[in-house]
Amino acid sequence: MPGSLLFHDHLVASLQAAQRGDSGLAVFYFAADGNSVPEMQGIASDLLNRFANLSAACFVDYSAVAAIADDCFEAEEALAFAGQMIDALDDHHRFSGAGVAVYPETAQDPDGLLSAAAAAAAQASQSADKELMIAQSDEFKLGILAAEAGATAKHPLMELEDLERALKKGQLRLHYQPQIEVSTGRVIGVEALVRLSGESGNLELPGSIITAAEATGTITRIGEWVLETACAQAADWTSQGLPTVRCAVNLSLAQVQNDSQIARIVEIITQSGVNPGQIEIELTETADPTDPDEVSERLKPILDLGVSLALDDLGTGYATLSLLRRLPVGKVKIDRSFVSGPGAARQRMEDLRAIVEMGQGLGLTVLAEGIERAEQYDTLRALGCDSYQGYYFSPALPAAELATLIERNLSH
Ligand code: C2E
Ligand code: MG
Ligand code: MG
Repeated sequence: MPGSLLFHDHLVASLQAAQRGDSGLAVFYFAADGNSVPEMQGIASDLLNRFANLSAACFVDYSAVAAIADDCFEAEEALAFAGQMIDALDDHHRFSGAGVAVYPETAQDPDGLLSAAAAAAAQASQSADKELMIAQSDEFKLGILAAEAGATAKHPLMELEDLERALKKGQLRLHYQPQIEVSTGRVIGVEALVRLSGESGNLELPGSIITAAEATGTITRIGEWVLETACAQAADWTSQGLPTVRCAVNLSLAQVQNDSQIARIVEIITQSGVNPGQIEIELTETADPTDPDEVSERLKPILDLGVSLALDDLGTGYATLSLLRRLPVGKVKIDRSFVSGPGAARQRMEDLRAIVEMGQGLGLTVLAEGIERAEQYDTLRALGCDSYQGYYFSPALPAAELATLIERNLSH
């Protein structure tokens, strides 16, 4: 993402100055779940306008703004300054937490500083404590500042019961992330991703909640709502005259365990009025390596409608060549750890190449997930990957914003 590249450059320059002893260096990370991209850009420029001692402030992630101050030499100083920034922005923006990292006590390199600040912000988001505090960990000293923004200081959805309640109260939303064809740059599909709508906007659900929901029956109820909503949305886009794009919906294996669940899925799709050829279901590869023939057999009534199947998070679980051959998949989605995971970039690139070749060798469409930066895009293009998803193009957006984006994308 351009913002994060720019920020990184500033951070490197500030670090060099701090190493020479010319200035101090504190990195601030404001996690602001649920804001739109323009809102995040607004927060960054607001900070820069109001605080002359900030040398940079950028929107570094879909849900975070990071800032650098060159005049903070100590954690206490940095925390006090973070408090001033939160106070100044409090009324206008939604924060779920803020974190501070100070050179050299917290970390000595740019990535270390930024990730420590991000970790502190994440910890602060989870904490109910709205006081300023400094936490000590083994590797580094973290300054943790829980946001003053009251109700949003803690992720409001920590319990499964809350999730059920949110479903009943109509607080779940779907956002849609575009999928882009590499050869044309066109949006060819979207993936529906569930969000929680609360006072603080639309929040992502922690992965652990989805996993917990899978272990109980909750995911089936959520999943039915997701499928109903996504099918209705896809049908609605078509009736609005929007160019037809495929709409992918995540299904967990727990949702396709018995005939009555399958019958319900078939019913939802057929009753929604959507052309089933527009719907794709994503099954994740990390799930239990159940007998693929059994899974195929069970999915048959759904796929017979014309629905297509994609295998999600490829590379993280049990998929083998024979599994891929035996499942009626049309698309594989390469997990984002292959794009930006730990380890040597060269090794990742080789792994990525092997997976792309394997998928295409089997006649499947290959999509790379989690593309955030131009060089990652260049890599997947060079490898001949068919399509991608990621913040580089767009995060998941509410339906109306997505429709506008598609219209703009396909009109030139
Ligand atoms: P997934 O299906 O692999 O979805 C991709 C996740 O990566 C999404 O997170 C998306 O917001 C995020 N993402 C997309 N582009 C980027 C990028 O460039 N960088 C980074 N760092 N992340 C990116 P999200 O929405 O939090 O969903 C997480 C997981 O939760 C999904 O992984 C999926 O397994 C599950 N999930 C989401 N919605 C549903 C649902 O309706 N039903 C079921 N069963 N699972 C769902
Ligand atoms: Mg998915
Ligand atoms: Mg995935």
